[in-house]
Amino acid sequence: MNNQMELDHNIIEDWLFLAHQSQSDTQENINLDNTSEKSQNTVIAYHLMQFADKMPGGFFIYRGDGNQEILYANHAMVDIFNCETLAEFREWTKNCFGGIVHPDDWDAVKQSISKQLTEGQTKTDYEAEYRIIQKGGFIRQLDATGHFVRSKTGNIFYVFVKDVTEKRELENLERERYLQTLKQNEGQLNDRIHKYHQALQVIHPEHLRRLETIEGLSLEYDSIFYANLDTNRIKAYRLSAPFSGLTSGERSSHEFEGFDTDYINNWVHPEDRKLLVGVTKPDFIRKKLAHDKTFHINHRIIMNEKTIYMQLRVINVGPNDYVSRILLGYRNVDVEIVREMKQAQILQEALNEATLANNAKNLFLSNMSHDIRTPMNAIVGFTSLLQKHVGDTQRTSNYLDMISSASDQLLQLLNDVLEVSCIESGKGQIENSKCNLQDVMYQIHSALLPRARTKNIDLSLDFSELKHTMVCTDVHKLEQILSHIVDNAVKYANKGGLVTVKVLEQENDKENYATYQFVVKDNGIGIGKDFIHHIFEPFEREQNTTMSGIAGTGLGLTIAKDLTDMLDGTIEVLSTVGEGSTFTVTLPMQILEPSPMEDIWEAAENPSIFATPRRILIVDDNEINLEIENEVLKDAGFLVDTATDGSIAVEKVRQSTPGFYDLILMDIQMPIMDGYHATRAIRALSNPELAKIPIVAVSANAFYEDKKMALESGMNAHLPKPLDTTLLYKLIHKLLDHTNDVKE
Ligand code: ADP
Repeated sequence: MNNQMELDHNIIEDWLFLAHQSQSDTQENINLDNTSEKSQNTVIAYHLMQFADKMPGGFFIYRGDGNQEILYANHAMVDIFNCETLAEFREWTKNCFGGIVHPDDWDAVKQSISKQLTEGQTKTDYEAEYRIIQKGGFIRQLDATGHFVRSKTGNIFYVFVKDVTEKRELENLERERYLQTLKQNEGQLNDRIHKYHQALQVIHPEHLRRLETIEGLSLEYDSIFYANLDTNRIKAYRLSAPFSGLTSGERSSHEFEGFDTDYINNWVHPEDRKLLVGVTKPDFIRKKLAHDKTFHINHRIIMNEKTIYMQLRVINVGPNDYVSRILLGYRNVDVEIVREMKQAQILQEALNEATLANNAKNLFLSNMSHDIRTPMNAIVGFTSLLQKHVGDTQRTSNYLDMISSASDQLLQLLNDVLEVSCIESGKGQIENSKCNLQDVMYQIHSALLPRARTKNIDLSLDFSELKHTMVCTDVHKLEQILSHIVDNAVKYANKGGLVTVKVLEQENDKENYATYQFVVKDNGIGIGKDFIHHIFEPFEREQNTTMSGIAGTGLGLTIAKDLTDMLDGTIEVLSTVGEGSTFTVTLPMQILEPSPMEDIWEAAENPSIFATPRRILIVDDNEINLEIENEVLKDAGFLVDTATDGSIAVEKVRQSTPGFYDLILMDIQMPIMDGYHATRAIRALSNPELAKIPIVAVSANAFYEDKKMALESGMNAHLPKPLDTTLLYKLIHKLLDHTNDVKE
């Protein structure tokens, strides 16, 4: 009922008035004549009531407030309650809405109505379904639609009701039937599932495992096909992007020949297409699988502009002696192939390196055997001549000179090899110390002067442009670099030639640093254009000793270059054959202020610097070595004592008074007690003065490791054999507290 259909208030009032008149009777007895005022509205209300009374459905009006009194109920309503009269109805329902509704449904109905009226769309209508108790006790189900109206006499509800008892019963019956059917179907379904499970259990033990195994094994394949060469059909079981033109599944079969045409044309690398076309030809497959169960072909595809390695594997799944039923699997093998290729590359590089190393070793051995043989021949030959002519002083003196020069050459070779080995094994360390560049140059000059004089070469030094002479650098390495280069200049200069060594000083960006250039220039034989590129390579010589008559190892410049690199410097060579060569060594060095003690170094080369004679204990098991060292040191003005193994030396020191021995020269390899043990024993002596006597290792083992071990055992320094007295003097001077000894 909407607003337009709402009854006029006056009509409602009249209806209610009429209804009230017949409180105890049916509306049929209402007499219009009894009404005081027969207005138009009263007439309408009367007719409406007549109409409502005859309605097939129940209709009643009740008050919304108070005890919800029933103001009107039609005939159908009275019938629904199985009452004879309206009065019976009013009595049965206690004439209130609460008496209409079954007590068990009352709370729910009340709540539902108030909810609809407060929250509903119209807020004036409600719908409810509730049970009623008929007179006689039967329960019926009513479907009610209520409408709320505000009248002059208060709030009222019109309610239309319909007895839906049979309808609901029918519906319940149908629902039950439906549920029963559902239950039946569910039972049937369960039966089928049960049977299916039973069937599954029958295949599970063998077949299922096989299916699962095949599925598992084929996982790494992106595309899998089953083909029959006899019928020329192929079915896809798994398809990846490159084969998306095909369809997969039980029912999709394709022609085998040409199944991969799109794959080859659109995906395969152009260089591998021909190969792949041939591989899937039935004749080729039959031939390949005639003896083997499977074969594979690796090929490349291009995906997203990237080359990827793929593998096609073909397997004969039919009888061994007849090839028709085959499996084809395509898988990505990019990671494996790339790894294999990398490994192959690593192996190839290792092989190249090994070959190079082997070649270098062979070259080294052949060079060494040649370079050793030459001076050795001289030593052996001149020694036997010496023996023959013992009485001939003139001859023997010449022979001894020859032997001495050959020995020097051998020693040089040995030192060079040791040095190269040390640098190339990465063991060379930079040991920076204070140094006077002039001294370094003088030292090299004085060492090479005798040889220069024999060739009548003018060897000159030029420091005129040197501003700072005191620097901090690795002096030993600097000496080696310059010695090799100046030595070469003298060696390869012509007789009567000229060799100049000029030291230049330039600015360096680094604070307190300068860039020093040592320019060594000769007017000798020069270096050929082809050879100059190989000049720093080990054992490389433009002409060997036999051809040139000039002895050498081919290692000097290798050492010079390696050491220069270590000091962050460079070596440049300019040369013209027949005119001479210029070697420029450029090195950055830290500049230092000169100290008043510097001049002592020059004096240190002279052992007579010591005011009181110094006593040295020489420890060596080799009598000849002992004898030589003894003589050399005595000649140099030292007092000498000897011990033939480490244990004797320890005893001698233990029993000495502090200051008796100034220094110990210790051999390393000795019977009973070696040099390392003897040093440790001396360092452990209870007398602290004796325990700190300087000990210098003198050993043929001159590798870096040997030096390291010597220092670790407690020795102060290491000198290679044979003993270089100049070096020894410097060392003694360094190790002993000489300040009081220096002669004024
Ligand atoms: P070595 O001098 O012992 O042969 P180096 O490594 O010092 O070995 O020199 C390598 C080669 O370079 C020499 O054999 C020689 O052919 C060439 N060479 C080096 N310095 C000069 C130079 N000043 N003049 C001419 N040739 C030189």
